Amino acid sequence: MTAAAVRELRRVLKADQVLTSPADLVTYSYDATYLSHLPEVVVFPETTAQVQHVLAVAREHRLPVFTRGSGTGLSGGAVPLGGIALVMTRMNRILSVDRDNLQARVQAGVVTAQFQAAVRAAGLYYPPDPGSARISTIGGNVAENAGGPRAFHYGTTGRYVLGLQVVLADGTVLETGGRTTKNVTGYDLTSLFVGSEGTLGIVTEATLRLLPPPPPARGTLVAAFADLPTLGRAIGALAGHPARPTSLEMVDRHCLAVVDDYRPPEIPAGAAGVLLCEVLDWPEGLARRLRELEQVCRATGAAVALGVTGEQAQRRIWAMREALSPALARIKPTKISEDATVPIAAIPGFLADLDAIRQRHGVDLVVFGHAGDGNLHPNIICDERDPDEMARVQGAIDAIFAAALARGGTLSGEHGIGLLKRRYLAQAVPPAALAAMRRLKQLFDPDNMLNPGKIFPEA
Ligand SMILES: Cc1cc2nc3c(=O)[nH]c(=O)nc-3n(C[C@H](O)[C@H](O)[C@H](O)COP(=O)(O)OP(=O)(O)OC[C@H]3O[C@@H](n4cnc5c(N)ncnc54)[C@H](O)[C@@H]3O)c2cc1C
Repeated sequence: MTAAAVRELRRVLKADQVLTSPADLVTYSYDATYLSHLPEVVVFPETTAQVQHVLAVAREHRLPVFTRGSGTGLSGGAVPLGGIALVMTRMNRILSVDRDNLQARVQAGVVTAQFQAAVRAAGLYYPPDPGSARISTIGGNVAENAGGPRAFHYGTTGRYVLGLQVVLADGTVLETGGRTTKNVTGYDLTSLFVGSEGTLGIVTEATLRLLPPPPPARGTLVAAFADLPTLGRAIGALAGHPARPTSLEMVDRHCLAVVDDYRPPEIPAGAAGVLLCEVLDWPEGLARRLRELEQVCRATGAAVALGVTGEQAQRRIWAMREALSPALARIKPTKISEDATVPIAAIPGFLADLDAIRQRHGVDLVVFGHAGDGNLHPNIICDERDPDEMARVQGAIDAIFAAALARGGTLSGEHGIGLLKRRYLAQAVPPAALAAMRRLKQLFDPDNMLNPGKIFPEA
């Protein structure tokens, strides 16, 4: 980084918006994976015009730009490979919550949970609920098309994006989409930017669709299984039933062992795996719906199927699920969280594959995830300082992706490709589709300035 580029950045941005100290560079060098790499400078734009200025300096000094929300990504997408780390968290204003039109306009750096709370206060509902919502930003959610447990019923972030303001590499401010829920006026550029991982443009504002709140009565279905193939079949049966729940999560026995201290009485010890479902309904319909779903689980062979309506008991059950990620992180220093996704009928076979991979590669592989979407999170708990173990881990990761693809699945359901999965992209995307993706990248970012090194395998 030349002093001239920093001087040029500071011509428009204040001193505290342009950081270069070693400590600051380290702070913005990583995301929620184990990867890290130092940027040369960290900038915090506060307006769209300032984002344009940063891009102008980057073009002039031929510096790559790595956009970052809160850095909770799980594929290395926000890890800067040198250049400028452009942090969006100061563009954090909720510009409007429009009750009449069921929509809101926000800046990209708004924290997801703060937006959810503001929408709730207005008597409305924004469904996307990534597990990182208390920290992640709306821009990061858009760039990764984030999901979460309720994506099973409500869909992922993209379904709620009506329009975007995006700054392109050449400084153009693009407005995509609009304020209507239906819009087939020309190409759907909004969807093109959703899930583009900061490689096509910098999202500065978003217009988001809102819903009325869901029905107020909440129940939880707990189903425990003696073997994973039966659990896998129950996922398909629940997903295809008219009473289907709002979320359909699974936890395998290795995970259950890790959070045994939190295990509520409703979850029996010794199960091969459990399904946890959130069920939302009107008060008069809830008990009946839970009974229907219990019946579905029993008919597929569940050892235990229990509908729970008590608020305290439900809190205990979901607290166990929430305790899982932090508890896994305490076992060993490195936690590799994959999110290979398969069609739901392939789940029983995929779970069997994962069990075989665990044994064949001798790795500490645990499985939980958004089972109703076929979006499993095989997590490998390991120590990146141990080269022997890491070689086995790499073999296991290769095998996980090969198994998912062989079963008609894909590399990622919600974490994106980033750095971690780019070497597998050509296995998952047919050559003509990959070439089309490269042409789009070339069109929007001809000098490869925006998040270079991400998504695409090295040429
Ligand atoms: C504990 C935990 C739980 C999680 N649970 C879920 C889950 O349930 N569902 C899920 O989908 N993900 C989940 N994630 C992954 C992650 O939180 C999401 O991908 C989230 O959307 C990232 O938001 P962020 O603001 O942290 O983005 P970052 O990590 O900062 O960036 C992610 C990517 O988005 C790009 N980006 C960020 N902001 C912009 C912008 N304004 N314009 C253009 N590109 C941008 C970055 O360049 C990068 O490629 C979880 C992560 C953790 C640590």
